[in-house]
Amino acid sequence: MLVYLDNSATTKQHKKVTEVMLRYMEEEYGNPSSLHRMGMGAEKALKTARRQIADFLGADPAEIIFTSGGTEADNAAILGGAEAKKRRGKKIITSVAEHPAVIESVKRLEEKGFSTVYIDVDSEGRVDLAQLDEEIDEETILISIMHANNEVGTIQPISEIAKKKKNALFHSDCVQSFGKIQIPLNGVDLISASGHKIHGPKGIGFLYLNGGARIKPYLLGGGQEGGMRSGTENIPAIAGLGEAVSLPSNQDPAKLKAYLKEGLLGELKDVKINSPKDSLDQILSVSFLGTRAEVLLHTLEQDGIYVSTGSACSSNKKGQSHVLHAMGLNHKEIQGTLRFSFGKENTMEEMEYVVAKVAAAVNKFRKLGSFR
Ligand code: PLP
Repeated sequence: MLVYLDNSATTKQHKKVTEVMLRYMEEEYGNPSSLHRMGMGAEKALKTARRQIADFLGADPAEIIFTSGGTEADNAAILGGAEAKKRRGKKIITSVAEHPAVIESVKRLEEKGFSTVYIDVDSEGRVDLAQLDEEIDEETILISIMHANNEVGTIQPISEIAKKKKNALFHSDCVQSFGKIQIPLNGVDLISASGHKIHGPKGIGFLYLNGGARIKPYLLGGGQEGGMRSGTENIPAIAGLGEAVSLPSNQDPAKLKAYLKEGLLGELKDVKINSPKDSLDQILSVSFLGTRAEVLLHTLEQDGIYVSTGSACSSNKKGQSHVLHAMGLNHKEIQGTLRFSFGKENTMEEMEYVVAKVAAAVNKFRKLGSFR
């Protein structure tokens, strides 16, 4: 049995997405900027996908800027947002639990002389709103707080944060939440999203830029995407992303998560659930005390089960999770943490199999390590 439970790292591309992409690779492969029929076909595909995504989000098509993925959208929002507002102030606020695409962009701004503040999170991974309140001042030009965390699934109250922003631009990395839960756009100036987390293509994503907000573009050239992101558009991937937003699901992810969680808690002692009750249905982070997650991961792989030790979104695969650390987990708990993440094709039968195999692997390693 093959059970893929690493959908927060990436998903299997859906057949319908591949079919749409093939059409724009093999038949209608024109450049949307070309004036002939082939160009017009590509332009139509671009317009359709932009409309599909805007409708899904409740935005205007002109507010969608296609990018090469979540990382580029995060970089563009943070570097371009700060650049556009730098005359008004120099203070940037983010959180300690952000994805490296945000943290590294903020660090770049630090090198350029901006002052930065990292808001703490509590034991459930939620940002400290009182600290945020205290930090937001007239100097603050940009706030970047993610919607759903990629390691534990904690959902940040972005509507509440948006109300506090004063003069700042508010950016939210919605790479994990897009296509899974409603993204409240009220007061949010910028959001980042990605195709490959929702059974769409890899290497495509978008930045939502609220009609009233301005950022400074940093990819310069032919003026595509309303001048905000030059470069010939990746039409097959864009069309694939448009298709991906409305794909059906095999099973309610909340049911998969509840079954897996209850099953593991029923079979094993000394298990810590790190994902809070109201976290994203698609993510379950669990610490198995007395084990090494990396060893568990490879044992499960032998049974055809694919999971992650934390987040696979960083190439620093051996690094200890900064998110779990910020939530107050100790070294041993972090070391024994696996992330199970669900996609649209997972089933309840798979969860039954996973509970049995995880319990067997954990018991085996605890015995070997003489744990309790
Ligand atoms: N932000 C978050 C929260 C993520 O989980 C990821 C995952 O990789 C990214 C950003 C980067 O997105 P992409 O892989 O599309 O560049």
